[in-house]
Amino acid sequence: MILTGGCQCGAKRYRVETESPEAYYCHCRMCQKAVGNVFAAFVNVPKAAVDWATLGPDLYHSSRLAERGFCARCGTPLSFAFPDSDRMDLTIGSLDDPVAVHPSSHFGIESRVPGWSHEDGLPGKRVDDSPEIVARWEAAYGVGTRPGEIRP
Ligand SMILES: [Zn+2]
Ligand SMILES: [Zn+2]
Repeated sequence: MILTGGCQCGAKRYRVETESPEAYYCHCRMCQKAVGNVFAAFVNVPKAAVDWATLGPDLYHSSRLAERGFCARCGTPLSFAFPDSDRMDLTIGSLDDPVAVHPSSHFGIESRVPGWSHEDGLPGKRVDDSPEIVARWEAAYGVGTRPGEIRP
């Protein structure tokens, strides 16, 4: 399927061909801060399949692990990626047609904000349930540090 999207002002536009309409919620504190909201909603896509029709996103290194793409002109949050991964996330709100994908899981459920999150029967994982992310976090910040906590 082809997804297209971009920021509010149109300075950043993308097109991606991806295999799945399954998207997810991330409730982790870093994503909450990054999107300025009580959770982020993402679709995970192959990085190489994302074609930026304009200049690519501006990048903010939100931690030693991750880079977040946004538009410096209008502020729209656009993406999340581990620089060494071959996949990345795009924000659902930046899609031209957010109805084209649907939520299939929750991540970072330890930081869910009560009152803004309702039981929907979808599976959920804590950040530290993901061995890959724990390994990335410990490589960046040291063994025993807590994945998902806010730090530069
Ligand atoms: Zn913009
Ligand atoms: Zn997150």
